[in-house]
Amino acid sequence: MIPTISGRRLGAFLLCLLPLAAAANEDAAVPAEISALALEMLERSIGFKTVEGEGQVPAYAEYLAGVLKAHGFAAEDITITPRGETATMTARFRGTDPSLKPILVASHMDVVAAKREDWQRDPFVAVVEDGFVFGRGSLDNKFGLVTSTVALIWLKQEGFRPRRDVVLVFSGDEETTMETTAALAQELGNADLLLNSDGGGAYLADDGKPIVYGMQAAEKTYMDFEVTVTNPGGHSSRPGATNAIYDLARIIDRLAAFRFPAKVNEITRAYFETAGAITPAPAGPAMLRYARDPSDKEAYDLLVSYPEYVGQVGTTCVATMLRGGHAPNALPQSATVGINCRVFPGESVEYVRSTLARVMQVPEEEVRLIYPATPSDPSPLREDVTQALRKAIDLRAPGLPIVPTMSAGATDSLHFRNAGVPSYGVGGAFMHPKDSYAHGLNERVPVATLDGALVQWRSLVKDLAR
Ligand SMILES: [Zn+2]
Repeated sequence: MIPTISGRRLGAFLLCLLPLAAAANEDAAVPAEISALALEMLERSIGFKTVEGEGQVPAYAEYLAGVLKAHGFAAEDITITPRGETATMTARFRGTDPSLKPILVASHMDVVAAKREDWQRDPFVAVVEDGFVFGRGSLDNKFGLVTSTVALIWLKQEGFRPRRDVVLVFSGDEETTMETTAALAQELGNADLLLNSDGGGAYLADDGKPIVYGMQAAEKTYMDFEVTVTNPGGHSSRPGATNAIYDLARIIDRLAAFRFPAKVNEITRAYFETAGAITPAPAGPAMLRYARDPSDKEAYDLLVSYPEYVGQVGTTCVATMLRGGHAPNALPQSATVGINCRVFPGESVEYVRSTLARVMQVPEEEVRLIYPATPSDPSPLREDVTQALRKAIDLRAPGLPIVPTMSAGATDSLHFRNAGVPSYGVGGAFMHPKDSYAHGLNERVPVATLDGALVQWRSLVKDLAR
């Protein structure tokens, strides 16, 4: 997904990589039948209700396999693996040198649930209207899946032979448990790199011109903790010296006053250097100072006051859930706070847990992790990747600033980074932030961005696979 970006941040970027020589125009022209195939596939894809529990992912995979076979992919190079009610799929575009590590092009086949009664239109019937394709998954992530897949079909039709294998990798539960992603990452952990269609993208200004392209190169680790205070309780007419709710309130107070230490990595430093240069004061200069010296407390204090930057300067943990007591006329026997953490890459569960325990002044074993966390290191800003992306973006929008990003949420890249495969969110959607309705109502994608995405994917894959 494209990370949310506030109006304040729009326009606040400089070139992070200089454009290469102007691209040849013929590279940017999409053959009419390729363009039509992408639109038709996107419409058909939306028709598969690949929501958790509906059991439609395997049928969708069969459809995709059929399209690939009809366009020259060998049946033996396509694998659909049922996994519970869902499935994974891989399709291999064979390279000429089997000794080279493959590159992966990843997307997810599942979508977030959508209720018919909440939508203006049936979310699972694609509608093209006002220059948009409407439907659940039109953006997240069937747009990415279709455009990257059709770009490979385009390359195959042109007779392109990659040196290394290019493998389409489709997960089946990215929006929920990511068990299929974890399985794929295990199987394909030897890959050279992964290009994720579900991350990255460009923002358009009100006049329709792109402002900045974000390449996702890191993700924070998601962790949920709970802390429970217990008490013998009793009748509310006879309050005693202790009270589970009062005790918990003091614990929460201590958490509220705490901040994790300032952190910076290659991705966030590049982000702040790029964005800081032209973001208006006071944030812009603070970004530059922070990029130079994360121990600059004044710069740090200023950045954490912005909701859009607070997550970029370190781990955040915040109380999000509260429950306690069992009757209005009884002393509470227990009170629980839920704490959601977005953990800076490189910081462990043990570190976060022990820090929370120390700060809240509770025994460490009482800070319980609700379910296992999957950490992942940032992907290095590899020159081959940034150069290939620069070239691909120049075909669509010459000189458009490219900024590396660290997102707060999880995509398939999480598991691949965890498995040691450098992963980059390099999706092809160019959209106005107001039109981004991923996960929400009336999800849509501009028809006009399909061709651009095809051009971008074709160029990227061609460069990185040769
Ligand atoms: Zn997604």
